[in-house]
Amino acid sequence: MTTDPQPSVRIDTGKAHPARVYDWLLGGKDNYPVDEAVGALLPPEARDAARQNRQFMHRAAAWLAAQGVDQFLDIGTGIPTEPNLHQIVQGIVPTAKVVYADNDPIVLRHAEALLVSSPEGVTDYIEADVRRPDGIVEHARHVLDFERPIALSLIALMHFITDEQGAGDIVRDLVATLPPGSYLVLSHAASDLYPELAEQVTEQYAKGGIRLAFRTRPEVERFFDSLELVPPGLVTATEWTTPDLPADPEGSGIYAGVARIG
Ligand code: SAH
Repeated sequence: MTTDPQPSVRIDTGKAHPARVYDWLLGGKDNYPVDEAVGALLPPEARDAARQNRQFMHRAAAWLAAQGVDQFLDIGTGIPTEPNLHQIVQGIVPTAKVVYADNDPIVLRHAEALLVSSPEGVTDYIEADVRRPDGIVEHARHVLDFERPIALSLIALMHFITDEQGAGDIVRDLVATLPPGSYLVLSHAASDLYPELAEQVTEQYAKGGIRLAFRTRPEVERFFDSLELVPPGLVTATEWTTPDLPADPEGSGIYAGVARIG
């Protein structure tokens, strides 16, 4: 990390946070003992899942930029980890505009790293909770043109939102704001691929005070209802490849898909 963190942001180091546990799983340094305590008790496959998920983000973002998509709304961004989404898409389309949103103050603390745009493009960051999608969209409208296609990415985010919290409606409401030709990019931890591991992970996070809502394949499919999944469809993170890339034979407990909004 080459940026100066914002010292004014208050960080609660007494409680584990999803963004920091994920950072620990990815081998990052922006986490605290309380986060490591959760991460270290997870089965080792959790680290594979984090890496596979991040690599899915890389491939999906590059594919979208190659399709000519130049506007991105990324919610549940996580602590900056290079390459970040804007670095990938602006490497392909330098004029691309990216709006990031996360509700964890630690991400805001390192947001400068998310804000170093290509000179031709734009990056923007907002601290916001996906459970209030209207506010995020209202903010994003200042940067993105909602008359033109936008890629909405909810990558490893929705398994932090339960059905009671309205996960399905949140995704539907966000998608409804996007014009035809837009895309939904979503990845999600599976409860049914490696059920024992999923249970262990859910238990350990719960001990750290973080509630997880891993979902079955049909439950994840529902987020894509009435949208047109692009090949290879809803698959695991390692199976989601584009025709020019070889498939990764490694197993994965993460579902991943990209769908076109008609
Ligand atoms: N999308 C990134 C990071 C995934 S980790 C990637 O796939 O690499 C999940 C992120 O979601 C964390 O940064 C966490 O802070 C964020 N998050 C969890 N609940 C959230 C909520 N209700 N609103 C916004 N962000 C949330």
